[in-house]
Amino acid sequence: MKKIFVFANMLIMVLFLAGCCKHEWVDADCDTPIRCTKCGKEKGQALGHEWADATCAAPQTCTRCGLTMGTTLPHTWVEATCTAPKTCSVCNATEGDILPHEWNYATFDTPKTCKNCGLTEGEPITLTEVQFDFIDKARNSYFFFLPDTIIMENSNEFPTVHILDYDGNEIKKINDDKDKNGGCSTAYSWDVNLDNSFAICTTDIDKDKNHYIRFYDEYGELLKEHTFTLNVPNVDYLYLRTSSLNHYPLFYSQMSLRPLVCIDPKTLEIVDESETGGVQEYKNNKKFKDITVLYHIDGDYRFVRMKDNSGAGYTDCELNEIKMYKDATNFNIRGYALVSEDGENYDLIDNAFNVVAKGFTQGKKAYFCGDYYFYVIDSENKRHYFCVK
Ligand SMILES: [Zn+2]
Ligand SMILES: [Zn+2]
Ligand SMILES: [Zn+2]
Ligand SMILES: [Zn+2]
Repeated sequence: MKKIFVFANMLIMVLFLAGCCKHEWVDADCDTPIRCTKCGKEKGQALGHEWADATCAAPQTCTRCGLTMGTTLPHTWVEATCTAPKTCSVCNATEGDILPHEWNYATFDTPKTCKNCGLTEGEPITLTEVQFDFIDKARNSYFFFLPDTIIMENSNEFPTVHILDYDGNEIKKINDDKDKNGGCSTAYSWDVNLDNSFAICTTDIDKDKNHYIRFYDEYGELLKEHTFTLNVPNVDYLYLRTSSLNHYPLFYSQMSLRPLVCIDPKTLEIVDESETGGVQEYKNNKKFKDITVLYHIDGDYRFVRMKDNSGAGYTDCELNEIKMYKDATNFNIRGYALVSEDGENYDLIDNAFNVVAKGFTQGKKAYFCGDYYFYVIDSENKRHYFCVK
């Protein structure tokens, strides 16, 4: 009888257990198997996490439950180019700016071209000999070529400066009346890489010993005037040159081109030379005494012509030789210069010293004369003008 009771009891329990819970199953997830929310009964196994690899945007992450582990990876950077900044190849994050293009200079066949992305700018170089009848007729005159106008100065009528159009018609005439007492004046436009403008420097020797520098735009409109005195004896010519760390020092010829005044080319204001470093740099440089002509070029080079006629060429800012030739000009606005190894045959170079055109003309001396123009003096003392764009 007892046995029967026990059995019945067990049966009741089994029935109770089986029949009394109407299971409510929830799906398995990463941590738990299928599970009854009422009685906690479990079936099968937990699914386990499904890890997605860490990236630079997120750490290792379970795609099901979003659990993360560890940290994000570093970006996979692709270095900046001239078309895109430094970019992560995985998440496309960017950092910094795009690089400047690395230009190959224009040649006669190809325009200026970026060696990285192939972008081109402008046109291939053209080099043409230009005839200017009015220049051939104008004896003892100096010409400087600006984009729209030609500035002419005749050594017989200092300090008059004529502004001509490209057919030789006079647009304007500037008489520097400060010079009437016999002072010396000159328009040293070609010495100064002013943007489309020129300068006249005057000294009123006999009257008030004042010195004048006037800057004009290419049509002869006055941009800026400076009047000042300098305690310098026996002044003759004033030279204004682009030579020193983006400043224009003013020189006197009798002073062996000793720089005296410094002008900021952007504001055209006289600046304290002690702030520039540049002028002092030349005063103290021993090599400076051997140089008759010195131009600043693009911040990196100086163009120099040696006093003893031994050559002309390019130096660094400290006047250490970079490249010297028998004859050379400074670079025009597009970065080209005429050079000659033998003093007779002239090559055109770009300002990385690549020869762009070899032996294209002969002469005995070459000069830079404006934004695009050079001239070469031949053995009969005739000037041959070349437009290089
Ligand atoms: Zn249950
Ligand atoms: Zn998970
Ligand atoms: Zn990334
Ligand atoms: Zn590029």
